[in-house]
Amino acid sequence: MSLIDLVRDAGIVGAGGAGFPTHIKLDAKPEYLIANGAECEPLLRSDRRIMEKNAAGIIRAMKAVAEHSGAKKLVVATKRHYEAAVAALEKAAAGTGVALHLMKSTYPSGDEQTLVYDITGRVVPTGGLPLDVGVVVSNVATLLNIAGALDGKPVTNKVITVSGAVKNPVTVEAPIGTPIGDLIEAAGGFESGNPDDYEVIIGGPLMGFVAKGLDEPVTKTTGGVLPLPKGHKLLAYKKVNIEKQAKLAKAVCCQCSVCTQLCPRAALGLGVEPHKAMRALSAEKGKLLGNPNGVFSCCDCGLCSYYACNFGLAPSVIMGTFKKSLMGQGVKAKKEVRGNVDPGIESKKVPAARLLSRLALSKYDRDAPLVPFTVKTPELRIPLKMHIGAPCRAVVEKGAAVSAGTVIGLPQGLGAVIHASLSGTVTEVTGEYIAIRA
Ligand code: SF4
Ligand code: SF4
Repeated sequence: MSLIDLVRDAGIVGAGGAGFPTHIKLDAKPEYLIANGAECEPLLRSDRRIMEKNAAGIIRAMKAVAEHSGAKKLVVATKRHYEAAVAALEKAAAGTGVALHLMKSTYPSGDEQTLVYDITGRVVPTGGLPLDVGVVVSNVATLLNIAGALDGKPVTNKVITVSGAVKNPVTVEAPIGTPIGDLIEAAGGFESGNPDDYEVIIGGPLMGFVAKGLDEPVTKTTGGVLPLPKGHKLLAYKKVNIEKQAKLAKAVCCQCSVCTQLCPRAALGLGVEPHKAMRALSAEKGKLLGNPNGVFSCCDCGLCSYYACNFGLAPSVIMGTFKKSLMGQGVKAKKEVRGNVDPGIESKKVPAARLLSRLALSKYDRDAPLVPFTVKTPELRIPLKMHIGAPCRAVVEKGAAVSAGTVIGLPQGLGAVIHASLSGTVTEVTGEYIAIRA
């Protein structure tokens, strides 16, 4: 069986991103294969723990991908201060030809385009992919899943950091479908003990989203679970109201353009101009000013909102709104690199500690050791959409007996196979999930 078939059958999607099917990404002939262990988002520790514990698996997967694709330059990118992970990777990579690229603790160091430029000096064009410049980037968690696929193991679990306002931050490996409430319990529960005092961010502090409730399930792309006290400034940023933002932009945006000056994608010469998006909100009745193609290069890192703007405005949200609107009008991104890389690009990287301080998150910057995890809930709901593209179609019916690893959903077009993450009986099948009782 080819590597692509093994990866497809294992249901692997990008574990650190939007859930792009890995078997499609790997069907390429790159020069570089970059393992992304930068763990861009502050507070998260899952990639760090994965590298500490499974460095050999990551290197093994990289060698397998290189053998399949012909990639000659293999690089693992991670942070210099992840000492135990670096030591484990150095040991596992010795004599294999895999190099380590060690970075400072800055944000957004793990942004794919930033990483590609840091390592190769090449700029991925707007509307393009790293493959356009001969590179495939894969998250270390995804590579570990590829190592599992080589042994016939499908994706049924996810390594997740549970941090923020919990008693004891931890990193756990949880079956897909586990409600996030179980994960918070594994971290000793909410700081005050009262769940009503908190809201929960799923993902990292900057790019994550606010959970609807504690029964939201772990998916193949969940990287973090971060409760924060209600009223925390980060939660307010995540609930920006566009009409209110337009009024604020008109009243207080002084067009200082600091948001654009600190934008990592603008620094790559990709023509991203959040200050013009803000101006459009107030000055031109919503008509986008400046370079509309640059909007497609916004990676939603949030730096313009969470760090750059001194007036508490949220240009990243507005960029996202414009992007959606352009896509809705059928506008497609044009492949282009608009300008030169900013010679001061290095100095624009934001130290993670400073970012945490700005976001009032420094007190949550705590270790989150990997600990054993047991699911408390007897019934798990496994989502049918954990990848980009349409949801999978269920291939089991209510009452069916399944084992952990049984195929329960198949993609309809672009997507990835879904497997049962526990053994038991199927109790419910909807268009959104399959419930399995242990
Ligand atoms: S959104 Fe903020 S940082 Fe950007 S131009 Fe306006 S005031 Fe300046
Ligand atoms: S979110 Fe803001 S800083 Fe980040 S890429 Fe988009 S415009 Fe640039």
